[in-house]
Amino acid sequence: MQQTELFLLKLGEVVLKGLNRHFFEERLMNNVRRRLRQCGGRYHLELRQSTIYVEPMNEDCDLEAAYAACRQVFGVVAVVRALPCEKSVDAIVATAKQYLAPSFAAAKSFKVESKRADKTFPMTSIQLSQAVGGALASAFPAVKVDVHEPDLTVHVEIREKAAYVHGPALPGAGGLPVGTGGRAVSLLSGGLDSPVASWMIARRGVELEMVHFVSPPYTSQQAQDKVIELARLLTPYTGRLIVHVIPFTRIQEAIRRACPEEYFTLIMRRFMMRLAAAVARRANAGALVTGESLGQVASQTLWALGVTDPVADMPVLRPLIGTDKVEIIRLAHEIGTYDTSILPYEDCCTVFTPRHPATHPELKAVEEAEAALDVEALMEEALAGETWIRVKNGGTNET
Ligand code: ATP
Ligand code: MG
Repeated sequence: MQQTELFLLKLGEVVLKGLNRHFFEERLMNNVRRRLRQCGGRYHLELRQSTIYVEPMNEDCDLEAAYAACRQVFGVVAVVRALPCEKSVDAIVATAKQYLAPSFAAAKSFKVESKRADKTFPMTSIQLSQAVGGALASAFPAVKVDVHEPDLTVHVEIREKAAYVHGPALPGAGGLPVGTGGRAVSLLSGGLDSPVASWMIARRGVELEMVHFVSPPYTSQQAQDKVIELARLLTPYTGRLIVHVIPFTRIQEAIRRACPEEYFTLIMRRFMMRLAAAVARRANAGALVTGESLGQVASQTLWALGVTDPVADMPVLRPLIGTDKVEIIRLAHEIGTYDTSILPYEDCCTVFTPRHPATHPELKAVEEAEAALDVEALMEEALAGETWIRVKNGGTNET
């Protein structure tokens, strides 16, 4: 019988969950299903023994795209392509010989590792590995058996319905299924940091909505489009994203008019926090996310954070707080946001930057400086001007 290749998605931390494990698994299945809808054809999904089986059901399935998509779903730690066969040594050997022939051609040494989830199978894992390994050693005499550091490990899994033969697993995105950890609002700028920070929080199972502040005419439409594109690049991981676009020009002009220059950025950031928190409350979100990293710029020193944090009446998650720029850049490359992030467009943070920003600000002094402004009225006006864009993977954006 001709067997078709399928994917085995290995569950990560989800398997550590206790009574609510079912909830995590259901969510993960739905998230995988939703991603595969963008990969052509029909797929059959089944969850058994901490593994999701993804079986392509017709010719239209784009296997390469589906494989890549499965590796981007949070909650999956590893993905393997495997070929099923009958649960017998002969069938397993025949399958491995044919299916893994290219890998054997490239390897100098190999071993067989067997797992026996079906305990009724008449051989132990060790016996099975020996039998299959012996037959494969005769079939590929140029490739030596090496049980310690082989170039190629042939995996045999005896499961409920069939035996599965596969080579090495590739890592998945890890984390927890999006939608199992509540919702947060992420402050998305066009820089390198905030897309990475958003990705990290989504990886912990949190559903995101984005807030982006624009300051026309000081910031351009291209700058906004770039941020929308960054959001789109995140959607394979996060699912559809709403980007709330909030006009910030009037606030920045009011700050420039009425506040001491050394506090411009800090007061501006306090407005960002307040506005994002207002969006979060409306969206039923429990936290804010920013791309701040300790000491990176004047507004990200301990003292500066002490001044901006108090206006957010909810936790502010800063997953990059202890990371260096090189690590952030490495992650940006890995998740695919780097090339877009480095496009040279202005951000509202770079408009009206003070020549000598306060690096050791005191909360009281900043509050006093801010008292010159009608905070409530400025916030109300900004929120009244809010628009939103719904960003999807693939399809067109909705406004
Ligand atoms: P990034 O690389 O993410 O732009 P940054 O190092 O340039 O970060 P800042 O410009 O000081 O840092 O901004 C700090 C954080 O504030 C950003 O990571 C982001 O979360 C948020 N932020 C900055 N500008 C905007 C904006 N225009 N809209 C929404 N959030 C913003
Ligand atoms: Mg920035």
